[in-house]
Amino acid sequence: MVRVGVLGLQGAVREHIRSIEASGAEGVIIKHKEQLDDIDGLILPGGESTTMRRLIDKYDFLEPLKQFGNSGKPIFGTCAGLILLASEIVGQEQAHLGLIDMKVERNAFGRQKDSFEVEIPIKGVADDFEAVFIRAPYIVEVGPNVEVIATYKDKIVAAQQGHYLCSAFHPELTDDHRLTGYFIKMIEEANQHVVMNEG
Ligand code: GLN
Repeated sequence: MVRVGVLGLQGAVREHIRSIEASGAEGVIIKHKEQLDDIDGLILPGGESTTMRRLIDKYDFLEPLKQFGNSGKPIFGTCAGLILLASEIVGQEQAHLGLIDMKVERNAFGRQKDSFEVEIPIKGVADDFEAVFIRAPYIVEVGPNVEVIATYKDKIVAAQQGHYLCSAFHPELTDDHRLTGYFIKMIEEANQHVVMNEG
C-alpha cells in the first residue's frame, strides 16, 4: 500500500487524509521534515499560503520539500498548495518551492466569488468533477512542460508537470475521490520506476 503524506503545518489536512484513505492508500500527517523519508508522495493542502510559508521556514521544511520533489517523488498541491509549487506569483518578488513552471495569481476569482462549487471536466480523471473553489488562485501561464488538465471560464485551474500535480480547487471536500485516486496512481507509477531502476 502506498503511503501518502499531507503537510500538516496548517490548512485542510484531515480532509485530505480522509480522501487518501477512501482511495485505498495510507495517509500520514507530516509535521517534521524527517517524516518525508517514510512516504511515497506528498499533498500540500489548501489553507493560507503565506502562513504556510512562514511555518515551512520555522520548521526548516523548504529545502527538504524541494529535495523530496527533485528526487522524483510525486507532489500534489491544492489551492494554497498550488501557490507553494508555482515558479512565479503575480505581484510577488519571490516564489516558494518553484517546482512547477507556471505563473499563478492569488485570490484570482474576485471577492463576490469568494467560494463556489462547479462541475468541470478534468482530463484523464473525470468528465463531471465537483470542484470546490475557496478564495482560489488560478494559473495565468504555464511553461512548455506543463500539461493543462482543467479550465473553468477559460482560466487554468489544474495542471500536471511530470510527477507534480496541482489544482486551484479543493478535491478533498466532497466524496468524489477521483482526483486523489489519480494522484495515488501517479505515486504507484513513480514507485515502479524506482524498482525498475534498482533492479
Ligand atoms: N487564498 C489562499 C492563499 O492565497 C488560498 C486559499 C485556499 O487554499 N483555499 O493562500
